[in-house]
Amino acid sequence: MPEPTTAEEMNPYKIALRQLAHVAGILGLDDSIHGILQKPKRELTVNFPVNMEAGGTRMFTGYRVQHNTSRGPAKGGLRFHPDTDIDEVRALAMWMTWKCAVVNIPFGGAKGGVVCDPKTLTRAELEDLTRRYTTEISLIIGPNSDIPAPDVGTNGQIMAWLMDTYSMHAGHTVNAVVTGKPLSIGGSEGRLDATGLGVVMVTEEAFRKQGRALDGATVAIQGFGNVGGAAARLFHKRGARIVAVSDVLGGVTNGHGLDISALVAHAARTGSVVGFAGSEPVSNAGILETPCDVLVPAALQGQITGENAARVRAKIVVEGANGPTTPDGDAILHDRNILLIPDVLANAGGVTVSYFEWVQDIQSFFWSEDEVNERLGRILKRAFAEVWAAGEKHGVDLRTAAYIVGVARVAEATLTRGIYP
Ligand code: NAD
Repeated sequence: MPEPTTAEEMNPYKIALRQLAHVAGILGLDDSIHGILQKPKRELTVNFPVNMEAGGTRMFTGYRVQHNTSRGPAKGGLRFHPDTDIDEVRALAMWMTWKCAVVNIPFGGAKGGVVCDPKTLTRAELEDLTRRYTTEISLIIGPNSDIPAPDVGTNGQIMAWLMDTYSMHAGHTVNAVVTGKPLSIGGSEGRLDATGLGVVMVTEEAFRKQGRALDGATVAIQGFGNVGGAAARLFHKRGARIVAVSDVLGGVTNGHGLDISALVAHAARTGSVVGFAGSEPVSNAGILETPCDVLVPAALQGQITGENAARVRAKIVVEGANGPTTPDGDAILHDRNILLIPDVLANAGGVTVSYFEWVQDIQSFFWSEDEVNERLGRILKRAFAEVWAAGEKHGVDLRTAAYIVGVARVAEATLTRGIYP
């Protein structure tokens, strides 16, 4: 992989561009196609006021970026976070393009963000912010053009407000404009756990390649939200031992395994995993260095870097989060023979079941959870096998292999459609 990164190069969009350049070289992509894939197709920045409950209005900034739509409508999550910015959203949109192509679902890539800390807003302010942001970006979203979903700091309720706002403008109900909705308004069975389940399914595939089973394996998870929380429950259900978990406030560890149902109840009651009985505290940096079979970074990007990758003590890293490993972190893990299952494959369960939700909304015909999970398993197994085969064919790590599969599909679609006019 490319040269070690400096702090400046921690910029996620620069990382995404370097990853693309690396694979463009391997695939021998034409400069003009590489140039098209480097740039987001469409970017919208919106500044808008929200009435605050304490009085007065506050201005907020939001983004919606559509990276590529050669293979279908743009698809990607919506992030509410104080540190989000246009380059983060650009990178996340590009990663969505490759992810949808890796699992071969007919979507392009997009991402949205609003610079805010949802924890500091009242419910009414959060609803107003969501509805106004939706109105501002309604110029470019829609069931045939760009379909948002939950990401860091957003959830099913926010998707419900987004769907309702879009529908009010349209004058009729448009369920398929957003995924990750509650079941009562056209959500899909299985969507809530889909990303975590996908993380578990691809880990099982990797274990199968190594002739091992998940039963008894030790797992450490950074992040205890939608992805990390579900992954913890589902790994535990398959007999794995969760030896450490963390959230933004800190982490907890127990080498014998944490009692996950009690921990879920503790986190629901106190708002954090911190202080869980029968555990020792561990920092968010420390959790990445926990001795374990499987390390799942499931919080934010830029966690495993050139600085700490040498201290990772996992046998497999499974990227629940988007972009948690920097290119120099990647290179060190690769040199140390630590297998890494990249985000575009490892957390693709979420967008795959989002695709199922969109299909069900359009057909107004809904599937059982078993049907959803069975179809998800089929798609992820096929994607894992294709990425693994590309890795063996080109003699490269799985991230490069996944990009080879994804970028080649997007490049082919772009070339086949031709350049208009
Ligand atoms: P979430 O908001 O539900 O949970 C995020 C978790 O990370 C929380 O436990 C939070 O406390 C913790 N966290 C936040 N900042 C942290 C920090 N600095 N250090 C340690 N922990 C921190 O978000 P999520 O939906 O679970 O998303 C997590 C990651 O997974 C993101 O990278 C997201 O893009 C990616 N992802 C999410 C989905 C999905 O379906 N929700 C799908 C694919 C990828």
